[in-house]
Amino acid sequence: MKNNNSLSWNIECSFCQLPQAFYTSVSPNSVSSPQLVLVNDQLADSLGIDPQQLNTPKCISIFAGNEGFKGVEPIAQAYAGHQFGNFTMLGDGRAMLLGELITAQGKRVDIQLKGSGRTPYSRGGDGRAALGPMLREYMISEAMHGLGIPTTRSLAVTVTGEPVLRETALTGAVLTRVAASHLRVGTFQYAAARENIEELRELADYTINRHMPSAATEKHPYVALLEGVIARQASLIAKWQAVGFIHGVMNTDNMTISGETIDYGPCAFIDTYNPATVFSSIDVQGRYSYRNQPGIAEWNVTRFAETLLPLLHEDREEAVTLAEGALSQFARLYVTEWLEEMRAKLGLFTKEEEDETLITDLLDCMKKHEADYTNTFRSLTVDQTEKFFSTTDFIEWKEQWIARLKRQPHDQKAVKERMKQHNPSIIPRNYYVEEALAMAEKGDLARFATLLHALENPFAYTKEQEEYVNPPRENTSYQTYCGT
Ligand code: AMP
Ligand code: MG
Repeated sequence: MKNNNSLSWNIECSFCQLPQAFYTSVSPNSVSSPQLVLVNDQLADSLGIDPQQLNTPKCISIFAGNEGFKGVEPIAQAYAGHQFGNFTMLGDGRAMLLGELITAQGKRVDIQLKGSGRTPYSRGGDGRAALGPMLREYMISEAMHGLGIPTTRSLAVTVTGEPVLRETALTGAVLTRVAASHLRVGTFQYAAARENIEELRELADYTINRHMPSAATEKHPYVALLEGVIARQASLIAKWQAVGFIHGVMNTDNMTISGETIDYGPCAFIDTYNPATVFSSIDVQGRYSYRNQPGIAEWNVTRFAETLLPLLHEDREEAVTLAEGALSQFARLYVTEWLEEMRAKLGLFTKEEEDETLITDLLDCMKKHEADYTNTFRSLTVDQTEKFFSTTDFIEWKEQWIARLKRQPHDQKAVKERMKQHNPSIIPRNYYVEEALAMAEKGDLARFATLLHALENPFAYTKEQEEYVNPPRENTSYQTYCGT
């Protein structure tokens, strides 16, 4: 018989086997009246957790940070990072790792709380989070998952019953985040900064074992680790670009080793196509603009490569040569993945040398005519029209595209099907998300729930999704904020 006061989840903490320098044990910070706002039944189910357990007092208490899992001590992880280019020692200032869940399929995932109170790494922060930003992370991370983009997931949002003080007093909340792991480029930077090669090796071996077991049997396991991380990031960023996702804060502490998107603070999707787009209020230089994302990812993996140098070869010059060899692949891998994504968006199955020009010509045309990114591809898919479709620029481009489609053996039906699978009918548009969040913060979750549901399978082209396709009436400059 199921007992509501105990959970039968298989929880371990393999990360706690690493040297003590990588984490600090933390005790739960009790909150007065935790209440569940949102739970992800489907995610629970896919992890082999009975969704009914999520609503039990035990689970709510754990999700609010009032207690850990039985027999596993919560920890805050240490890490460093380049924030807007400047190196800083960081760590989980408002997060704690409750442990790793071993799923029914034998998969290991981190269960982490975000907004659960102060830790030894909190510096001046309060360790807390407000309801709005936690719901926003929930929605956008789940939307990314729906779009087929590797991401951390959101299992639950719990309100604490306590206010958090920002500019005003806001409702305090905790997000339960599920990730392949929370190992970051910044975790390696932290290890490298300690100049302790044994600790670094333990971290690298742990990472290989957890994320890239095949590297262990390669001739140069650490080179293989580097190559693997480079390939995963190149692929991830290509996927972001293809859906018009701007992360907004690609600091090295916000880049995972697993290749999952992490940290949904100031992110947002492009409406009007302009490669210079930046949403984050603090990104005044445009460092993390849409067009800079591939270059920044390359910069970040270069920082990762630097941390590995002592493991790559005992001779520094040899190590640098090996790192450079791996890094030189990033641009090629990125462009290959990006072309693959963009070809699919245009219904192309075959490859031609000139495809890149066909794609960039369309993008240039979209920029010139201030076209909506998602809707341009959506309209091409379902034979609808956009304002700029009547321009000579576009008409000329379309002729080229149709000629190109004719040079492949696939029929119209197959082309449309491919386009449907790669052009989302819906993205979490900023103003719909804001509207849903504003209502949710007042206690009305209905709008949030319908939008979330519509985002579940963005390639379904349902009637429900049509309600969310309109871009904002004016191309107002939307702003997002960090440190929420
Ligand atoms: P983020 O911008 O979320 O990537 O956070 C950068 C760093 O600041 C991390 O070390 C976070 O743990 C820490 N941090 C962010 N917000 C808070 C907060 N409210 N209290 C304590 N630490 C925080
Ligand atoms: Mg972060």
